[in-house]
Amino acid sequence: MIRIELRLQGAVQGVGFRPFIYRLARRLGLAGYVTNGPQGVAIVAEGSRERLDRFLARIDSESPPLARITHKKVDVLPARGEDDFVIRSSRKEGIPSVMLVPDITTCPDCTRELLDPSNRRYRYPFINCTNCGPRFTLIEALPYDRPRTTMKGFSLCAACEKEYRDPLDRRFHAEPNACPDCGPTVRLTTPGGEELAQGEEAISILLQRIEKGAIAAVKGIGGFHLLCDATREETVALLRRRKGRSGKPFAVMFRDLDQIRQYADPTKEEEALLLSPERPVVLLRKKGEHLPAVSPNLSSVGAFLPYSPLHAILLSALPFPIVATSGNLSEEPIVKDNEEAKKRLSPLADLLLLHNRPIHRRCDDSVSKIIGHTPRLMRRARGFVAAPVILPGKRKERVLAVGGHLKNTFALAFDDQVIVSPHIGDLETLEGMDHFETALADLCRIYDFTPDRIVHDLHPDYATTRWAVRQQGIPKTPLQHHYAHILSCMAEHGLTKEVTGIAWDGTGYGPDGTVWGGEVLHCTTSEYKRLFSFRPFPLLGGERAVREPRRVALALLFDLYGEKALTFDLPSLSAFRKEELPLLQEVREKGINTPLTSSVGRLFDGIASLLGLVQILGYEAEGAMKIEDRVLPEILDHYTYTITGDVIDWRPLIEDLLKDPDRQKVPGRFINTLVRIILEVSRRAGREKVCLSGGVFQNRPLTERAEALLRREGFQVFTQSRIPCNDGGLSLGQAYWEKT
Ligand code: ZN
Ligand code: ZN
Ligand code: FE
Repeated sequence: MIRIELRLQGAVQGVGFRPFIYRLARRLGLAGYVTNGPQGVAIVAEGSRERLDRFLARIDSESPPLARITHKKVDVLPARGEDDFVIRSSRKEGIPSVMLVPDITTCPDCTRELLDPSNRRYRYPFINCTNCGPRFTLIEALPYDRPRTTMKGFSLCAACEKEYRDPLDRRFHAEPNACPDCGPTVRLTTPGGEELAQGEEAISILLQRIEKGAIAAVKGIGGFHLLCDATREETVALLRRRKGRSGKPFAVMFRDLDQIRQYADPTKEEEALLLSPERPVVLLRKKGEHLPAVSPNLSSVGAFLPYSPLHAILLSALPFPIVATSGNLSEEPIVKDNEEAKKRLSPLADLLLLHNRPIHRRCDDSVSKIIGHTPRLMRRARGFVAAPVILPGKRKERVLAVGGHLKNTFALAFDDQVIVSPHIGDLETLEGMDHFETALADLCRIYDFTPDRIVHDLHPDYATTRWAVRQQGIPKTPLQHHYAHILSCMAEHGLTKEVTGIAWDGTGYGPDGTVWGGEVLHCTTSEYKRLFSFRPFPLLGGERAVREPRRVALALLFDLYGEKALTFDLPSLSAFRKEELPLLQEVREKGINTPLTSSVGRLFDGIASLLGLVQILGYEAEGAMKIEDRVLPEILDHYTYTITGDVIDWRPLIEDLLKDPDRQKVPGRFINTLVRIILEVSRRAGREKVCLSGGVFQNRPLTERAEALLRREGFQVFTQSRIPCNDGGLSLGQAYWEKT
């Protein structure tokens, strides 16, 4: 007889791990106990060596579906001759190193019960079990136990209590366990706060109103959604006006895969991603002219399936898919509390469906896309946070990385892991910054985290930089934006040696005072060198050029043809009023408010303007998305480019493009030219490993073709998948940087 102590870390709390261990140990006739602690799950088991070996093997092979073990430690102790196996209650001690488990979609068992009229939880919007339900959004402190969740105010009824205590039940220690008798309830109110109905009745009135074209604010798992009929163009248009959102696509929730297939053409991989327990929004190709109001002038639609019981109830009763967009005004943070909803969402919604299970932390929907047969997160939030990124070695310092300015996330690095926050969003508003500070304080408290160092972007005007500078008594390090993009890719793949980093995006602060965005860098985990970059061009009018692709096109044309450019017959030029053009020429000549940029994101904008696709952006990356949409798969040739010294010259490319008689083929040829440039600079840089990161690589054909070509030419290529390659990934890169 021997006794072992086993310590497990990772996603091992709140996922049915203790009952699994309990049942397994009993089946194998072992004695001992299992307990949740701040260090993860601790198991003490006593029995014969042969049985303990089987026990360990089956923990690896039969763990519950949502469990993920990141660290395992086994110690052998002298046997004590115990004869029972029990689940011990949690104790709080030491530094919490367990993770906040993500919110997981309703499991098949719960969904079946939800739709079964004979079940006591029939149509109950808060059904869950150990295999599913909210976690991240309702855990107030670790270790995970009901009194430390937002369910603490609800006491279990006798029937729920019995399930909760029964080790053989699916709801054994399901901390958010609830039923219509003892759990949270929904209620429907007018925007003015007048209660219309509760429970079942609230839901039926809501359904009737949505069918008649109403816009409803509905409290979900990580915040409110605004919901309406996605097929009713005038309702979607009204929602756009109320939300202050012109052309930016809305996500659409569908009842099931069959309904999705009526509107879009998902691939097998996209279907698997749609059905995954994380249930992200997945970008799909629309079928024909469907859902024009939802994603105007785009062939894609962001689709997802119901992930909470409430969504399943609503969608199963509605004959159409629904717009399900974050409950907020424009780019502000998602609303999470009932009172806040009354204030901020009443002007946007015709009615509010509230509930009384508090949301402890905000969490938006995640957004993903299949590129090169791999799911890529473009916004990492619900379903994925706060699973850690495990690093190849232990950190010397505890680092707080504050991320970028738009699509912000922040990250905490300690031991050998990085906890990346959920998508926080844009920090342009006071509300945005308030959300950043609240979320930061909350995660630091949960993980008992005090940083040894803060790493922030080099940009002096980022709200995060200003925040970092205000923190007293902690060393701070500024880090260049594009280097952070490459470090993020390196961290995701555990790369520790030197790489060639191709960092292309819209905007990032360059140490030479220009706006970077088309960079080829040589990187290690502690330093970088700029190897190549695109020929800089002026942003006519600074920030205005970022919003107006026609200004970028004009700058490219001036650079190539001088004054003569004004005589050309191009959509970019006719988009200006006659008198504006000479003024812009003067702006350029005198260099008034014309910062230089090497941004590839801006090149996309300029070309989208030259093609007449967009002249003034309705939303970020509109130009790039429209070009991506129009890349024809059969186009294999490319335009000319030159690389002289350390400058990648785009001028031959633009000249060829303007001469191209076949407009339809321009997007494909442009992308192929970028792919050839990537190969050429990778060869010249001379390293075997190439990392591609930065928002430009959200472009499917670009990334797929670049990866394929580089691999064919013998390079090892690394791209981002679990962490966004856009600015949402910056915090991980900053956290991975190593001080020498
Ligand atoms: Zn379940
Ligand atoms: Zn109950
Ligand atoms: Fe960036």
